[in-house]
Amino acid sequence: MSEENSFVNAKKQLENAAEYIEIDDDELEVLKKPKRIVEVNIPVKMDDGSIKNFSGYRVLFNDARGPGKGGIRFHPDETLDDVKALACWMTWKCAVANLPFGGAKGGIVCDGRSMSDGELERLSREYIRRIYKYIGPEQDIPAPDVGTNQKIMGWMVDEYEKIVGKHKPGVITSKPVELGGSPGRSESTGRGVSFMIREAAKRLGRDVEGMSLAVQGFGNVGRHLVRSAHEMGMKIVAVTDAEGGVYDDSGLDHKKLEKSMDNHGTVAKASYDKITNEELFALDADVLSPAAIENVITEENADGIQADILAEAANGPVTPKADEILDEKDVFQIPDFLCNSGGVTGSYFEWVQNRYGYSWTIEEFRDKLDKKLTQAFDEVYRTHKRKGISMRDAAYSLSVKKVVDSMRSRGSL
Ligand code: NAD
Repeated sequence: MSEENSFVNAKKQLENAAEYIEIDDDELEVLKKPKRIVEVNIPVKMDDGSIKNFSGYRVLFNDARGPGKGGIRFHPDETLDDVKALACWMTWKCAVANLPFGGAKGGIVCDGRSMSDGELERLSREYIRRIYKYIGPEQDIPAPDVGTNQKIMGWMVDEYEKIVGKHKPGVITSKPVELGGSPGRSESTGRGVSFMIREAAKRLGRDVEGMSLAVQGFGNVGRHLVRSAHEMGMKIVAVTDAEGGVYDDSGLDHKKLEKSMDNHGTVAKASYDKITNEELFALDADVLSPAAIENVITEENADGIQADILAEAANGPVTPKADEILDEKDVFQIPDFLCNSGGVTGSYFEWVQNRYGYSWTIEEFRDKLDKKLTQAFDEVYRTHKRKGISMRDAAYSLSVKKVVDSMRSRGSL
């Protein structure tokens, strides 16, 4: 991501959303600026004895509604502008899901894949030593993101607790279950997408049971989406990943897909007819869910989409040009930051349980997830209908308004 396509874009989207709410230019300028940017140098002793310096960031974009929330990325091309944009988007995602959180994000410029476990641990712990004053369960709560995982979160929680001399599991979410992580968290994004699809189907006067679904991506999100959609009685007709995919008009068995994934690292090896990613987008399925990477639905392929519902499980899967085409074709779009907000909602539940020192059963977790996401969907849908604007504009304007209202109540606008 560069300035051109990340933070500039994020600000443009904010300006667009501001058109639907009452906000003056001065207020908008305040809203566009991150509240706090922390930039640190992280020297790490490498396995070969040399010392390498890494750049690390933590941006708190807005905390009017509650402590900041957002993941930490390890990526060689990470920039401060990317982190600012991601922190900005987290602000709207938390607001649209009605969570008492603001938006934040962190990142370290590094290629984690080329580092040993020891190097990664030293990097993660030193990062926390340098930013610990700016994070905490009541201040700013990180989580994993691209290039980081539960194991890394475990080191970070441990380092934070050592520094403050207290048990503070709520400082980071999506941590290992042994350290207070929630068993429901890892499935919550994909499961949440299935709830969103069910709600969209209802609004179109359809029953989700029996509807066909095509999914791109079988990672954390896609895999749980497929499993949960199957439980709802949907027919999974196609699934693809980076290596290709499979198709069966009479329905794919999700267990076979999981087996192929576990044995070969791809769904493409399951014994079904093969399908490419491009063919998947043009399939005549009721629901299409891009759950892999960004910018996969473009002005080149948007016109070929036949699905009635597009569930944007991945972040940013639809380009702005494609968005216009899909709008004209009357495809019902569930915008990404609403569609995949089950993930941060699951994180919120983990944080709540940590603060209570009490954990729920997986059934309670799923039930609460369902209620929270159904409410979020409903609010956006009603705004979409009432104002006659797209679901995306409805979600943006609603969430920006919530943040503006909180800022005004605090007297910060
Ligand atoms: P993941 O790395 O676990 O899985 C990604 C999947 O996409 C894999 O199946 C991979 O093979 C596939 N893929 C990668 N490149 C591809 C390509 N060029 N063509 C087709 N498929 C390709 O990632 P994930 O955690 O499942 O996240 C997927 C998307 O959802 C991302 O956009 C992520 O930002 C977003 N998201 C994830 C979460 C979460 O909780 N994991 C939360 C919110 C949003």
